[in-house]
Amino acid sequence: MRLILLGPPGAGKGTQAARMVETYGIPQLSTGDMLRAAVQAKTPVGLKAKAVMEAGGLVSDDIVIGIVADRIGEPDARNGFILDGFPRTVAQAEALSTMLDSKALALDAVIELEVDQSLLIDRIMTRAAEAKANGQPVRKDDDPDVFKTRLAAYNRDTAVVAPYYRKHGLLRTIDGMQPIDAVTAAIDHVLTKG
Ligand code: AMP
Repeated sequence: MRLILLGPPGAGKGTQAARMVETYGIPQLSTGDMLRAAVQAKTPVGLKAKAVMEAGGLVSDDIVIGIVADRIGEPDARNGFILDGFPRTVAQAEALSTMLDSKALALDAVIELEVDQSLLIDRIMTRAAEAKANGQPVRKDDDPDVFKTRLAAYNRDTAVVAPYYRKHGLLRTIDGMQPIDAVTAAIDHVLTKG
């Protein structure tokens, strides 16, 4: 199964993707995680992406498309994947389509988690507090001001990606404000019963 999870930062994409990995046995391909790993390892991509990510902006399409092209070519992604945080622009969506076409592959569904943006800042602050309490590193971009920039980037560049997939008949929208288990059940329903 080849899937995309769409939704603003804090919508629950990462949480749901982790559950889908278990249920469907396909890997979660999070461009945010890949970029954070590149920043940590100080690779050329990481060095280019670091400042933009810390400011809450979008890393250039070329960089992100390149890492996704490499990643979906890896053996564990052969039977499917869940893209989390990609595509974030229509240019990325078009590049993905070209990549998949060239391998004679297609997307099965694009799942959009619809949320009330006014409540997202609280969610993000909770995520940061929980990470801290569990002794995990707190993401530098989980800060109220940077979060506002991330949300603005979403509304400017990424909100148009859902209509793009709706036009292609792939979009399934789910209420992301439900409790986590209910969102998981709704996703499973869409994927198994159509
Ligand atoms: P995320 O973990 O998905 O919230 O991503 C964290 C940050 O990584 C974003 O705020 C962007 O700076 C960058 N990023 C992740 N995915 C993409 C993408 N598809 N396009 C551009 N930038 C991205």
